[in-house]
Amino acid sequence: MASQAYLGNTLVLGLGRTGESAARYLASLGPDRVASVTLYGGASSEEGERTRALEDAGVSVTCGTEDVTGSFDLAVASPGIPMDAAFFRAAEACSREVVSEPELAWRESPERWVAITGTNGKTTTTSLATHLLREGGLAAESVGNIGTPPTEAVPSRAEGGWLVAELSSFQLAETRLFAPRVAVLLNVTPDHLEWHHTMEAYAAAKERAFANLGEGDLAVVSVDDSWCRAVAERCEARGVRTCRLSVAGDPGSPCAAFLREGALVVRLDGAEHELVPASELRIFGLHNAENALAAAAVALEVGVAEKDVRSGLRSFSPIEHRIEPAGTVGGVSFVNDSKATNTDSVEKALTAFPPGTIVLMLGGHDKMTDLASLAAAVCERCRVAVCFGAAGERIASALEQARLETGAALEVDRAPHLREAFDAAVAAARPGETVLLSPACSSFDEFSNMAERGRLFKELVRGLSGTGE
Ligand code: ADP
Repeated sequence: MASQAYLGNTLVLGLGRTGESAARYLASLGPDRVASVTLYGGASSEEGERTRALEDAGVSVTCGTEDVTGSFDLAVASPGIPMDAAFFRAAEACSREVVSEPELAWRESPERWVAITGTNGKTTTTSLATHLLREGGLAAESVGNIGTPPTEAVPSRAEGGWLVAELSSFQLAETRLFAPRVAVLLNVTPDHLEWHHTMEAYAAAKERAFANLGEGDLAVVSVDDSWCRAVAERCEARGVRTCRLSVAGDPGSPCAAFLREGALVVRLDGAEHELVPASELRIFGLHNAENALAAAAVALEVGVAEKDVRSGLRSFSPIEHRIEPAGTVGGVSFVNDSKATNTDSVEKALTAFPPGTIVLMLGGHDKMTDLASLAAAVCERCRVAVCFGAAGERIASALEQARLETGAALEVDRAPHLREAFDAAVAAARPGETVLLSPACSSFDEFSNMAERGRLFKELVRGLSGTGE
């Protein structure tokens, strides 16, 4: 049995939550399964309380270097380490195989996994799928990128329970045997090219979620972008049951998830389930209808009753920092979409509000992605855009250029940081409009992460209501 395999000398790369969890898990297996557990924290890692606790658990920890030496049967790499980094290569050179942490967890406990990937929408779809499974009375836990590393969840897995794993391209790139019962691909748009270098490599990593699907498993794949459509076609060509996902219309295949006259419909092996109108969802925008369709397909596939899928779809509320309502002050609604860290996610977020009513705040750390499509969408849907942070000037210029080309009436304002941008947005907004923080950038120029940025935005909104403005 896979779970009884002797793992020999093991190596863990990285001292983040993933590395720590993998090392603890391996050390807990004991001498019958593992000869040794060695962890390399990386060049900037330092010894401290965490490394001492790991040493106490039986892990041999080395900090401050990426020169891995020794001989290992299995290495587990943390997702932050690119495969072409010297650290990764050094580990590869002295290990029989290098895998990602979810692959290790899956090998240890391979039943009842759902894998969810895509450039955008992973967290929402993962949470919603878990919510729907629970609504149907199944034990289910969200793991992976979303928070709990799968190796942390494996020892306490509920009898008959499901693991719904949000997986990034980094985690998928280093899988080999990973075979979930259902795998979902939501979309593939440019992101993380600094890690994968090319779109081809990025898309191929995501496609690994489907590599080992067998008879009776289900692939849920969007056909609304060309990268995904190619994946769906390859799955079908291999004979994998493929649920074509689309918000543009009925894809016509025996398994499909789509919108029909505004209602969510999932068809599995020809049997149709008409679920709820998209307008009854509490998560807004076409992209969220897509996420809901994917999660509903997963739930129906693993046996959740149609009535439970319906009630779960109706009761699921937005998660923090994802088109999250942050209050209404003086007739102006405030919405926190701090998680929108790339241009496509902002374009999608704009579809959640009536055109011409949005005062958009965008900017932050500049990922240097192309802005043409974003700028056109902002001109079409927003009344005001306030650009801030390191990328602020580049975005403002792109918007002004698009405004010239389209003749749009967009007002473009500039502000140095989020606080000043917020003040400018409040000054510009009229009753009935929405101030939307959907920045299209990561936050590292000003904040430690997108959550800190979203929290400041919400605090500023609370400050407004506190003064009764
Ligand atoms: P991820 O975990 O993949 O980053 P999230 O569910 O956290 O995805 O959503 C991140 C942002 O991406 C949201 O704020 C929203 O603007 C956008 N988004 C969500 N779902 C989709 C989708 N299906 N397609 C495109 N953009 C999306």
